[in-house]
Amino acid sequence: MPAPDHPTWLGLEDALQVIAARAAQHRLPIQAVDLAHAHGRVLAAEVRASHPLPPFDNSAMDGFALRGSELPAEGERSFALIGEVLAGATAAPPVAAGQCVRITTGAPMPPGTDTVVIKENVAVEANRVLVKAGGMVGANVRAAGEDYAQGDIALAPGTPLHAAQVAVLAALGVAGVSVRRQPRIAVIATGNELVPAGQELGFGQIHESNATMLAALAREAGASVVAQDVVRDDPEALRRALLAAATDADLVVTSGGVSAGEADHLPKVLQSVGEIHFHKVRLKPGMPLLFGQIGASLHFGLPGNPVASAVTFRVFVRFALRAMLGVTSEFQPRRVRLAASLRKHHARAEFARCSLRSDGEGVLWATLHAKQGSGMLRGLAETEALALLPEGAREFAEGDVVMLWPES
Ligand code: AMP
Ligand code: MG
Repeated sequence: MPAPDHPTWLGLEDALQVIAARAAQHRLPIQAVDLAHAHGRVLAAEVRASHPLPPFDNSAMDGFALRGSELPAEGERSFALIGEVLAGATAAPPVAAGQCVRITTGAPMPPGTDTVVIKENVAVEANRVLVKAGGMVGANVRAAGEDYAQGDIALAPGTPLHAAQVAVLAALGVAGVSVRRQPRIAVIATGNELVPAGQELGFGQIHESNATMLAALAREAGASVVAQDVVRDDPEALRRALLAAATDADLVVTSGGVSAGEADHLPKVLQSVGEIHFHKVRLKPGMPLLFGQIGASLHFGLPGNPVASAVTFRVFVRFALRAMLGVTSEFQPRRVRLAASLRKHHARAEFARCSLRSDGEGVLWATLHAKQGSGMLRGLAETEALALLPEGAREFAEGDVVMLWPES
């Protein structure tokens, strides 16, 4: 057999490098969205604070605003109560020496005041307020700009907009932002044995589950699923499905048909409609992974075994999506200790499904699920994380430190 004209049998790092380079050429276009649609997107241009946050000095507590220099050093001191200012007040009375104003949390500090004494530390008698010693100058005041100063870069390009980030936008009064367009993903499951849920199984048939899972993984990664199909192991049907999917999607994700079996037509078909960037990685599960491109769409040919499909999506497709979206946050694997010794029966790197538990000292321990078979959904469904058992090593002792693959 002639040697393939694409890289094959790649290690994890090399595979990610090829994907990063290709994905960088497939950065998604920038579009404007209003604040209501910003959640879940990735920022494409920096956002600066056009006003300070908080916008004005204001009270952090319910109490009495006064001049801190007049606080009694011992005993107590009486102040004239000249009015009140509530949150939302459009004006605040100026406060002179010996005077104070009742104030609520979030209300602007009246001119002349710099300190709030909390209600619990005073006694109010008619229009006099007796303040006890022990207060501090400047206490209970939130200074204008102490959170974000005017002109600060509040959010950098490449920042995923989760709840906290959209809160920052809203608090800064930003009504619209530039984001990367949502990735459009087409999902195609392949296999003659597949029948949809709700249909009786005939001899040799199984219910299709990868398309459902991969579409869900795509949505969880912030993509929109533009197509979800099942096609038979027929080169012509596959060819048509790939071409149709690629007209509309930034990324085509298929499952099945990438190994060396009689019905594994995908590599050849991909070569006829596009190009292969690599085929096969030194990994378990996921060894037959195929990565290429059809026109302007990137294509991941994930193996059909459900766990291999899930793991290769979580490791490789998500990595590609981050690069296409220009996400800049660090891709930082955490460390975890193995809760039990184990033996790997191969030299490839392995992504093991595991549950996590933190002990009394705050050390994180990974317990591998008993069902590690790449066709076994239970191991996926009952765990939360992927521990990476590195290439080469075969024997692992209890307490050995391995990597936890980042989940976002
Ligand atoms: P393949 O990669 O096509 O050789 O498939 C490997 C294994 O995964 C076989 O046992 C298939 O029946 C199974 N499989 C393939 N595609 C799916 C799917 N969409 N849903 C559930 N199982 C699948
Ligand atoms: Mg198949």
